[in-house]
Amino acid sequence: MRKAFFLMSTLGVFLAACAAPTPPATPAPQTETSPLIVAPVVETLSPLLACPNPDCLVTIPGDETPQPLRFDLPTPGAQPVSAWRPPLYPVPWALAAYDHFYFTRPIAADEVNWPVANYRYGGVFFKDVTHTGVDIPAKAGTTVHAAGPGTVVWAGWGLFSGEPGNTGDAYGQAVAIRHDFGYNGQTLYTIYAHMRQVDVAYGEWVDTGDALGEVGDTGFTTGPHLHFEIRIGANAYYYTRNPELWIAPPQGWGVLAGRIMESSGETIKKASVLVRSLVTTQEWTVYTYGPEAVRPDDYYNENMALSDLPAGRYTVFVPFGEHTRKIELEIRPGQVTYFTFHGDGGFSLAPPMPPGMESIFTPVK
Ligand SMILES: [Zn+2]
Repeated sequence: MRKAFFLMSTLGVFLAACAAPTPPATPAPQTETSPLIVAPVVETLSPLLACPNPDCLVTIPGDETPQPLRFDLPTPGAQPVSAWRPPLYPVPWALAAYDHFYFTRPIAADEVNWPVANYRYGGVFFKDVTHTGVDIPAKAGTTVHAAGPGTVVWAGWGLFSGEPGNTGDAYGQAVAIRHDFGYNGQTLYTIYAHMRQVDVAYGEWVDTGDALGEVGDTGFTTGPHLHFEIRIGANAYYYTRNPELWIAPPQGWGVLAGRIMESSGETIKKASVLVRSLVTTQEWTVYTYGPEAVRPDDYYNENMALSDLPAGRYTVFVPFGEHTRKIELEIRPGQVTYFTFHGDGGFSLAPPMPPGMESIFTPVK
């Protein structure tokens, strides 16, 4: 397990890149001994244009079409053929009132089917593009499966630019599915990008697990992988959520979500949070969301999430000022474990207030 984990972490250095104009600033591989690492300093350039309506697609300011930069990184070496994990919970899976593991994974369980560790949702390893999905480091030719039932509303080139047939598109060949079920009255979409082959057509209905095509490296990417997105309310760039809160965990494993704030309540961006298992001492580094583009969950309002954690006790370390603060918590199987850090106010494990209840508990001034 540890060997496979190390391989996955190493591969992440080569594979993590989607629609991004410059290479990563030496992402930190996860190691047993890695200290807390300050998030890489990232130049803030012009933000992506605001989305004028729910159906728009974005371009980078100054460019009619995004620049198709390819990085001259070496071809990734041998990938782990298999790394055993428990089978996934059946979907839809929701033990807790506000959890929504509605989707299965778009890569089969006999392949690496979990997100690259160092370029998660909200990650900003590139100068001005925040990652709006997760990258799954499957090898070229791996079958891409529908994460849930629905209708294909995009198939082929041009999803990012909104120009059908645009072979310079950042997402390469991609598929978008509008799902048969929604969430809180809003339409759900899933996106599958960088495919080398698309085997479905616009308007086609697909069931959970149906083959959509093959993993590839089309579009802006450093190597073959699947870029996977969840979109809510509109099939558009600014309507994503963190897929790690939507794809079913392996059985007996759980997900950590957190909201890391200054004392003022403002979220801390690009903070490096360390998560350490008290059972195995295995460590994960996860960065809080960067600015622009990404959105938190409607209920959790998180700015970090980390999936695929075996249930058990963990310590979470948060850098704050000159110091590192820590809290011990329990990852529960098949559920989201939630915490907040509120600057000098410290940690809390209290869940968010249920929607509509805030007025009952908020003192009237
Ligand atoms: Zn990606």
